[in-house]
Amino acid sequence: MSTIIQTTPIYSINPHHDQCRQCRANLFKKHVVDDAAWELCHQGPETTEHFFECRFAAQFWASLGLQIRAGFRANDLHCISRPASIPDTEFSSYILLCCWQIWKRRNNHVFRGDTANLQQVVRACREEATSWAYRLRRDIVWVANVWCSSFAM
Ligand SMILES: [Zn+2]
Repeated sequence: MSTIIQTTPIYSINPHHDQCRQCRANLFKKHVVDDAAWELCHQGPETTEHFFECRFAAQFWASLGLQIRAGFRANDLHCISRPASIPDTEFSSYILLCCWQIWKRRNNHVFRGDTANLQQVVRACREEATSWAYRLRRDIVWVANVWCSSFAM
């Protein structure tokens, strides 16, 4: 599981700049791309924060019962309140699984032209959680099963 997680942009946050190295906003600063826009919505620069404040992302987080406060910063990731229905055990992994699917949605759009809707992304989360269950210690596999239930749409 750690191999997968390390490739998510959230894990690539530069602690000194509080930003994802692979995000378009950083690539724009380095003159690698022509603009910093989040290609899926063009409602803001592609920053780590846009993972949480984008209209789609807001719908996604809300559908899972996760409240993302205004002005959320990547460094606040560990402060997201846990819904009562989600176990405390491995809650940070749950959040990363969600981030991972938002990032995959972005990549599928950028590289394949696919634009998954909310239901498809939630379904992808459930499929991912099912896979992750095989990688968890046997005594906490139940956690992934609860996650799968939370991804029911
Ligand atoms: Zn957006």
